[in-house]
Amino acid sequence: MYMSQLYSPTLRETPADAEIVSHKLMLRAGLMRRSAAGVYAFLPLGLRVIRKVEQIIREEMNAIGGQEVLLPIVQPAELWEESGRWADYGDEMFRLRDRQGRQFCLGPTHEEIITALVRSEVRSYRQMPLRLYQIQNKYRDEMRPRFGLMRGREFIMKDMYSFDSDNEGLDESYWAAYKAYARIFARCGVEAHPVEADSGAIGGDVTHEFMVLADSGEDLVLFCPQCEYAANVERAEGVRIPRGGDEQPHLGELAKVATPGARTIEQISEFLNVKPEDCIKTLLYVADGQVIAALVRGDHNINEIKLRKLLGCETLELADDETIFKATGAPVGFAGPVALSLPLYADYAIEHMVNAVVGANELDQHMVNANLDRDFKVKEFADLREVQPGDLCPRCEGRLEGARGIEVGQVFKLGTKYSEAMGATFLDENGKEKPVIMGCYGIGVGRTAAAVIEKNHDEDGIIWPVSVAPYHVIVVPVSMKDEAQAKASQNLYEELKAAGVEVVLDDRNERPGVKFKDADLIGFPIRVTIGAKSLEQGAMEIIIRRTKEKLVVPIEDVASTVKNLLKDGEIR
Ligand SMILES: [Zn+2]
Repeated sequence: MYMSQLYSPTLRETPADAEIVSHKLMLRAGLMRRSAAGVYAFLPLGLRVIRKVEQIIREEMNAIGGQEVLLPIVQPAELWEESGRWADYGDEMFRLRDRQGRQFCLGPTHEEIITALVRSEVRSYRQMPLRLYQIQNKYRDEMRPRFGLMRGREFIMKDMYSFDSDNEGLDESYWAAYKAYARIFARCGVEAHPVEADSGAIGGDVTHEFMVLADSGEDLVLFCPQCEYAANVERAEGVRIPRGGDEQPHLGELAKVATPGARTIEQISEFLNVKPEDCIKTLLYVADGQVIAALVRGDHNINEIKLRKLLGCETLELADDETIFKATGAPVGFAGPVALSLPLYADYAIEHMVNAVVGANELDQHMVNANLDRDFKVKEFADLREVQPGDLCPRCEGRLEGARGIEVGQVFKLGTKYSEAMGATFLDENGKEKPVIMGCYGIGVGRTAAAVIEKNHDEDGIIWPVSVAPYHVIVVPVSMKDEAQAKASQNLYEELKAAGVEVVLDDRNERPGVKFKDADLIGFPIRVTIGAKSLEQGAMEIIIRRTKEKLVVPIEDVASTVKNLLKDGEIR
């Protein structure tokens, strides 16, 4: 490819709406352009990267027996009504009607479509295991599309679905995908850590997310430096700590104190000169129409996913001001467990609290020396809080550390959620009808490419790993007007191309500085510079993008040196 013909408009300035490195560099290097919020057009270089990531994924999916299909983007509402998700999916789903008024959506995911496809064909245990995957656009009408490909409304995903006749089969499918994912991300040049996660709207019981650790990541990951434990913040388990010592604590006298204007834990702890961990937060929720109270320690945050699981409710919302007033007799900020006639659910950390500060269910009043059992009764204790860095590891004696992560993939054991709802059954060895057991396995293709940039760049631009670089080599003559340079460049370009190297010749009549800047910005792993002086000495310069290392190589050895550098994976 000649640079003069390549449609790769680079930008010197960073576009104002780009906040994170990968987004900035993908725009600046001319890989993509924005069409609408969260919707992007890929330009030739960007598409080459996407196709390479896809190809790596394809090879690894095929290697575990995956068969590629292509499912429709436009999906009929009836299928989503069968699974119950037409109503559940909410505003994130792009919905549309055809001319007859029939409802459709642009697929945010493909469980329904694939389950419907399989239920009409798979009738016997002999037809399984079956692993089908596709690489396809997905649509989610995100409230806040941002960070370029990290959180788009149209995005490319690989999604595989496994169908097995028993749980052992599902296990095999799950761990095969899990291991394939580790290989895929490693081949793309990023390290992705599997972490335990919550299954959210997709459903199922067991799931791991693959996280690339980066400060720009939107997710908080907690991991133990002493063992293998790693989980995202939604999932991370809080530890129930046994009461220390045999001594009976001295219980103070329950008393009401005036706390004018103090509503937040910070204000109260400052006002009463106590630590936040000596206070109890009382949060009122409406769960399936019923008001309940949840208690967490003052320095902790509630994890609503855990609360929802404990209650087993469909809907869970923080109570509004009116509901709070009705239930407590006080405005927001003064709710407390004493004499509160609501079911109380408390985090484990409340169990051993002594002489706590709580709201008094009265404007500008709190209570001190509130004690469990004596002053209030809890209906159920559970792990309800958001785990924080510094907390105990649930698997060993270690303390958890926190890091930000980019979720590039996720694997789920779906079980029979969709097959039962949609009637995908088979006959087992004994002729008994059973629901198919499913798993699903996603990778964000664009997000993976963006994550590669987050982990592989410097102040000059992108540093592509060879495996996903749009081109491997750029040949840069310092001056195209110099006939010897032009000719030597052309020769090398032809030689590399003939050897199967993906090469661009910068044949533009630009100043060398401009060409070098573009080469660094786009991130070709190898640049070969051809200048008058080195040519006179019968040599060319090979510059390695990642290390900036410069090799002066005799002209006749340049092509073979480049090939060896690429082949040995020395430069990655
Ligand atoms: Zn641990």
